[in-house]
Amino acid sequence: MSSSFSTHTRTQILQDLSKQPLDLLVIGGGITGAGIALDAVTRGMQTGLLEMQDFAAGTSSRSTKLIHGGLRYLKQLEIKLVAETGRERRIVYENGPHVTKAEPMLLPLVSGGSLSKWSASIGLAVYDWLAKVPRSEQRQMLSADKTQALEPLLDKHSLLGGAYYYEYRTDDARLTIEVLKEAVARSGKAVNYTQVTGFIYKEGKLVGVQAKDLLSNTTYEIFAHVIVNATGPWIDTLDTQNDPTTGNKLFLTKGVHLVVDGSRLPIRQAVYFDVPDGRMIFAIPREGKTYIGTTDTAYTEAPVHPRMTTADRDYLLQAVNYMFPSIHLTSGDVESHWVGVRPLIRQPGKGPSEISRKDEIFQYESGLITIAGGKLTGYRKMAERIVNLAAIRLKQQTGRKFPACQTHHLPISGGQVGGSKGFASYIQEKIHEGVALGLTPTEAEELAHFYGSNTSQVFHYLPPLSDNPQFRILQAQLQYAITHEMTVTPADFLIRRTGALYFHIDWVRQWEQTVWEYMAQIFFWTPAQTQYYRQEILDRLEEASGVATPLVENKYKS
Ligand code: FAD
Repeated sequence: MSSSFSTHTRTQILQDLSKQPLDLLVIGGGITGAGIALDAVTRGMQTGLLEMQDFAAGTSSRSTKLIHGGLRYLKQLEIKLVAETGRERRIVYENGPHVTKAEPMLLPLVSGGSLSKWSASIGLAVYDWLAKVPRSEQRQMLSADKTQALEPLLDKHSLLGGAYYYEYRTDDARLTIEVLKEAVARSGKAVNYTQVTGFIYKEGKLVGVQAKDLLSNTTYEIFAHVIVNATGPWIDTLDTQNDPTTGNKLFLTKGVHLVVDGSRLPIRQAVYFDVPDGRMIFAIPREGKTYIGTTDTAYTEAPVHPRMTTADRDYLLQAVNYMFPSIHLTSGDVESHWVGVRPLIRQPGKGPSEISRKDEIFQYESGLITIAGGKLTGYRKMAERIVNLAAIRLKQQTGRKFPACQTHHLPISGGQVGGSKGFASYIQEKIHEGVALGLTPTEAEELAHFYGSNTSQVFHYLPPLSDNPQFRILQAQLQYAITHEMTVTPADFLIRRTGALYFHIDWVRQWEQTVWEYMAQIFFWTPAQTQYYRQEILDRLEEASGVATPLVENKYKS
């Protein structure tokens, strides 16, 4: 059962892309590019997308993994941003309840903190109003005793009270992949490990790109009426190539998250708390672990493999030990971590945490459209703005008309589960189906939560019952990831298709060899290729579990 998003069909897709001009070509396969591709195909545009690493390997797998309105941006009076992203939360959730979940948040109010009871209460009421939060999820203000009862690890001596409200939690890489899968299912064409290396012009107008398949070293020419640069932290590189006078728009900042075992920071719900330097950070329980983040510091190196320093790690450990004084977390407790780079639009005179998170669109003389900044949460609205522009351009160029945005009520891949209301009964159905195939109810339930309405397709790849039960599931997931999610390397699977490197690093250590041996067999890798991909996952393991050491040369490094 091959699909149009299969690793086996990559070359065919590239050949197809180079055959005739597209309506829209998107450069960059993070959430911004994926969202644009989905919006465009649903309006009837012939759409292609090229990604130089794996999909979501840039910032879109390295965020705090929250679908949120960004409460703290209210302090900066970013009313429009908070209103838009706040409202988008529910839409993102309803269109893919398998990949986004409601997450209760506790905001402790402490003496010496940046928020008083009064300002938190007003701020959250404004947030509820701007984001049109349903009554059941609206903020509740709590006494110190009630706050302490909800979170006994907080220091009762400094506690003044708290606020309880809701945000949503997601898996950013899976959200990106599910959005892309939906775009591809609706006739879009997307390929990873294909870098745009140059632009093609006709009479001064941009008409196409040179794109290099980094796996085969073949260069393709791909033509399109409209070309969008959605390369996040890399936008300046391509913009400068298009027009040398337009670079330097971005101010990159680095954000680190630490993962510790849940038993070392056993918080009962997510906590969003003050840090002595005036910033705020999250501690979020997830899959038996707790993750803590983030930092926000200027970053000037290459964005491919940003590294955590001891200063980053110690800052987060000190912050968490300050808010939960009895836990005494040390560097030895950190099991895994990840580092992301924020592509912020430069605002002279402003520091990392003060710069606006809103998105901005740049349109150039040649026709290139660039989008940067923004949030994971606002991806659908960012896409709508870009595709509106593309529709105007296409009408001018071809006379064709395109409808308005179609994605408000459009389930992403895996999201056909009857919305959030239907999800629980859908899961029950899949548990029965999985148990009939020899899975335990828990295994079937976990798969159904993870893959949503694609669960039966994953079940389809379960090998015979006689196989090792743990490997049965892994093999089904791996086969599905190769055939339906264009998984090229073991790292693609263990980092971005499963999220395992961050939340289950010991499981990755246990299974990485099985994964690369299996993939080597399926793809007929040469010994050199096998060694390369094996080394890559070992490097990523070392990177996730250690602090900055010299970078290992990587062919995708820019
Ligand atoms: P990216 O995900 O970086 O995608 C750009 C892609 O372009 C990359 O994959 C890159 O490989 C590719 N590319 C570059 N050059 C080329 C080329 N020449 N050819 C082909 N491909 C190319 N937002 C939220 O809503 N909630 C959060 O909780 C949140 N937390 C965050 C925490 C941190 C630490 C950070 C860093 C960001 C956070 N964000 C959050 C913001 C959010 O993650 C980003 O806004 C979003 O992921 C940016 O996506 P993007 O697609 O624009 O960029």
